[in-house]
Amino acid sequence: MAFELEALPYASDALEPHIDKDTMEIHHDRHHQAYVDNLNKAIAGTDAENLSLEDINKHISKYPAAVRNNGGGHFNHKLFWSILGPNAGGEPTGELAEAVKSTFGSFDELKTQLQNAGATRFGSGWAWLVVKADGQLAVTSTPNQDNPLMDVAEVQGTPILGIDVWEHAYYLKYQNKRPAYLEAVFNAINWDAVAQRFQEAK
Ligand code: MN
Repeated sequence: MAFELEALPYASDALEPHIDKDTMEIHHDRHHQAYVDNLNKAIAGTDAENLSLEDINKHISKYPAAVRNNGGGHFNHKLFWSILGPNAGGEPTGELAEAVKSTFGSFDELKTQLQNAGATRFGSGWAWLVVKADGQLAVTSTPNQDNPLMDVAEVQGTPILGIDVWEHAYYLKYQNKRPAYLEAVFNAINWDAVAQRFQEAK
């Protein structure tokens, strides 16, 4: 069964002024669509057609580069849209807030580590907050469209927050100022959605 691109769960201008409408439309309608289309081409006629997107990512070392790049691209963007939202930002509450405090000391420290992970990722990639196999939170980053679900990732775990640091995620509004985007995107993070993923991952 072929994978499909779902509509954004909010209007393309809903994240203004933090992430602009043009960037959202090009990012979702063209870039994400291309990952979906190219993933479907790459797995056509193979066993991977019968697997979930998560299972393909977990066993990515078995597949060619086109599956890694586009299967990662589809998974990563699906997650990204789901953890952003209008009227968002702020800080997590509840159990996630407690886990952040016990792991990082404070929310500000988590934010700093995520921003550093994104800012120091050379070229294209992602910054992540993950739940590791032992249930602990960790911050990591991956190159290209890799993610922490992949059996090739340096730090493996279940991603509960991903921040896209490809230039296509910010260049129209922020040009070369990736740190400015990494500050603004925190105003669009839906921590309730991240907390729900945290509960599911534990
Ligand atoms: Mn992207």
